[in-house]
Amino acid sequence: MVYPQSLPTNVTPLDTKIRDRIKADGPLTVSKFMEIALGDPDHGYYRTRDPLGEAGDFVTSPEISQVFGEIIGLWCAVTWQNAGSPENIHLVELGPGRGTLMADILRTARNAMPAFAESLDVHLVETGAVLRQQQRRALKSHNVDWHDGFEAIPSGPVLVIANEFFDALPIDQYVMTEEGWRENQIVLSEGHDNLIFAPGEQNVRNKAVIPPELGSPAINSIFERSSAGEQIAGDIAKRITTDGGAALIIDYGHVRHGLGDTLQAVRSHKYHDALATIGEADLTAHVDFAALKDAAEASDAMVHGPIFQGEFLTALGIEQRTAALTAKATLDQAEMLKNASRRLIAADGMGTLFKALAITSATDSTPAGFESNEGGGAL
Ligand code: SAH
Repeated sequence: MVYPQSLPTNVTPLDTKIRDRIKADGPLTVSKFMEIALGDPDHGYYRTRDPLGEAGDFVTSPEISQVFGEIIGLWCAVTWQNAGSPENIHLVELGPGRGTLMADILRTARNAMPAFAESLDVHLVETGAVLRQQQRRALKSHNVDWHDGFEAIPSGPVLVIANEFFDALPIDQYVMTEEGWRENQIVLSEGHDNLIFAPGEQNVRNKAVIPPELGSPAINSIFERSSAGEQIAGDIAKRITTDGGAALIIDYGHVRHGLGDTLQAVRSHKYHDALATIGEADLTAHVDFAALKDAAEASDAMVHGPIFQGEFLTALGIEQRTAALTAKATLDQAEMLKNASRRLIAADGMGTLFKALAITSATDSTPAGFESNEGGGAL
């Protein structure tokens, strides 16, 4: 089975690089393809631009409303307090975009719990130079350390925040064929030089990559797995069990391992061919929260949720906070604030597609917002 794709009209440096590489070394895995498209040091999507906002390619929750970051700031403050108010804590954000979420968190921390604001130092994990520059501007009154990966965060307790970070990490795809599971690859079509997806020749040798509960699904079913995501979730969990702290992961995705091709390219707020104008469109995949949970639990950490983003924000008072802000706002601003909050929590907005998952050490109490889910809760 081959999925035809059209040849792009304007060829980017990464289109050429990927074609040349396939000609020299053979088929590319989907994860390698995403790694190059998003992370190539010279031309990778996230390395070369600020993709956020109306003029960019997509919009995220912190850019929709300040209330999102304020609620997460409160969550951080309460979680710090429940952890015994450690004198020093690393507040770490993975993939901080424009720095908007961190700025909202820090403002809220200062207002709501000054002792927490005093105890934290800010660490941002970001690989893009343009976005680092934006973050520097957004956080100019703060001391900030930048890192290329979570493993570089100095030892000590951590509060880790990641909004729409895990969906940007490379995934691999496996396709069910007549002959069993095969890895989905990117190849050049015969005689044409078009980039296309095609299942590899080899059966997936390591059966452990496919969760047994998927059984033998229909031909052409696709299973996706992010080794990079699992690795980072495992590293965070390990750090939390040894040094203390907690993590909050918010993203769109599914609660259980599932089937389906969720690799998606977006450019200027529109869906785009994943194999066209490589490096100039955002590439994401739905997050498999079950896989992150397994990875964190393998490091003896405690996982809470996932729960719906709408449920999480509502439990932490998004409606009350919105009402307080609208009371002081003009009619137009009030309308905007209300619409933004509704979009974040509504089922036909981002309320149920997006999920929240927390990681703590096994001895810590349930983090704020996750109480209703403990003991075999909703999802
Ligand atoms: N959290 C922000 C931005 C989400 S976009 C928000 O909610 O607005 C994804 C972010 O992750 C960007 O900042 C991007 O540069 C960063 N990113 C993507 N892949 C990364 C990687 N492998 N390592 C570090 N940061 C990465």
